[in-house]
Amino acid sequence: MNETVLQVLLVEDNPADATLIRKLIDRGARCAYQLVAVETLAEAVAAVTRETFSTILLDLTLPDSCGLDTLRRLKAVAPNAPIIILTGIDDEDLAVAALRDGAQDYSLKGHIQAETLVRSMRYAIERQQILQQLQRSEAALQQQLLRERLLSEVTDCIHRSFDLAEILQTTVDKVRLMFTCDRVLVQRCADDGRVTVVVESHHPDCDPAIGWHIGNPYPLIFSDLDGFPTDSPPFDLWSEDLCRIFNVRSRLTAPIWIDNCSSKKGNVSKPKLWGILSVHHCQSQRLWQTMERDLFEQIAHQLAIAIRQVQLYQTLEAANQELQRLASLDGLTQLANRRHFNTCLDREWRRCARGHRPLSLILCDIDFFKAYNDRYGHLAGDECLQEVARAIHSVIKRSSDVVARYGGEEFAAILPETEATAAFYLAESIREQVATLRIPHARSAVSSVVTLSVGIATRVPNPQIDSATIVAEADIALYDAKARGRNCVVLGERQGNSAH
Ligand code: GH3
Ligand code: MG
Ligand code: MG
Repeated sequence: MNETVLQVLLVEDNPADATLIRKLIDRGARCAYQLVAVETLAEAVAAVTRETFSTILLDLTLPDSCGLDTLRRLKAVAPNAPIIILTGIDDEDLAVAALRDGAQDYSLKGHIQAETLVRSMRYAIERQQILQQLQRSEAALQQQLLRERLLSEVTDCIHRSFDLAEILQTTVDKVRLMFTCDRVLVQRCADDGRVTVVVESHHPDCDPAIGWHIGNPYPLIFSDLDGFPTDSPPFDLWSEDLCRIFNVRSRLTAPIWIDNCSSKKGNVSKPKLWGILSVHHCQSQRLWQTMERDLFEQIAHQLAIAIRQVQLYQTLEAANQELQRLASLDGLTQLANRRHFNTCLDREWRRCARGHRPLSLILCDIDFFKAYNDRYGHLAGDECLQEVARAIHSVIKRSSDVVARYGGEEFAAILPETEATAAFYLAESIREQVATLRIPHARSAVSSVVTLSVGIATRVPNPQIDSATIVAEADIALYDAKARGRNCVVLGERQGNSAH
């Protein structure tokens, strides 16, 4: 109570009592005070609306109000002011009720000493201050809880998805709701330093900023300089001009740093600036609260984690796909391997069965290949296999067709929805294409160059019958082609025999 000037409001309609109270305070006060005296509740209400009082001395019986009602009505307009009741009503129950209704003390006029009154005022002020501190702590706690709830809502949402577009859109939508602001943006920083708005949530009255290039005024932050201080804030790339165009009055900005895991062994590389998260307020200037700034930064941090997670997921998925691809390829010829051939044949067998469509299978075998190896060596044999594979592949062009290395020097082509005549035409083209390669084969009994024998089978598949049937039929046709002198094409028996 020292040093400060107390602002005291005295609400007392009896002039004699008012004078007495003023004298008591004068006598007991140990610090400067200013006293505003009013005589009615209406005047008291006007006074507390106008200014803040350190304490209010209130008579309950006034010309325009009476009893506890006086206290309640004043408390309603000045909930934080400490009120001391000074009354002539000697009623214990009323005193208790007044304290319950928020009065700090209850004293009887005529029985008050100067010292007692001033002490009562001091205690009232201190109690009120403690109460306000408690209320502030409580409010801070509530804010903290609210912040954590909102943050966990956003975090839950964005960590559940592996779809980057969905994550970014959810973030901007939720942040706009959370901050009741006009525009939320994700700006992407490309490797060349260009910054572009890639995702946005905006109030219908605000112009969209999506697709805008925000420029590249800080090329250094995107370069590979080591030791770049990641916490320095050149992230608000919006120029004054740009803010004017988009009517941005106040904004919050947070960088999205992503850990760079592709760093070389032993080198801990600095994080990369992936993008920038921004909040715009357009209707008016806005002073961002500390809680809002903290929350915003935490959201940007969580977003960075979610983006990194998506990147890792995508890398993993690409690696899995590559693994799948490699697992289905023949290492020497890069055609489908036998395993993949079986899978594809089963699938196409069922598909053609469902559509009652014909399926053709071509089996090719290099003539006298053992002799080729013996004459030219195994390495030359491998090269020959690669050339033959390329030649076969160049003939079979439909995306639904599958060319595979079936065995050592045997190749197969699965031709869904292909009639026998078309298959025969393709098989003949394959045979010619390989012959046209003119790979010398001094030990072939049928030609001076490498040749193929080809067997074909065509069937409208029956789902009750195994797909291996068509392989067996094509194999018989191939055997037939060998028997007929090699370097020829034979169509399986079910389709009627024909040979080159
Ligand atoms: P045919 O005209 O009756 O088909 O006679 P062929 O000699 O071609 O048939 P055979 O089955 O007797 O021999 C196949 C040869 O293919 C034997 C094997 O050494 C060779 N071969 C199988 N796989 C490879 C391979 O990956 N590389 C090489 N260089 N040769 C292979
Ligand atoms: Mg063979
Ligand atoms: Mg052979």
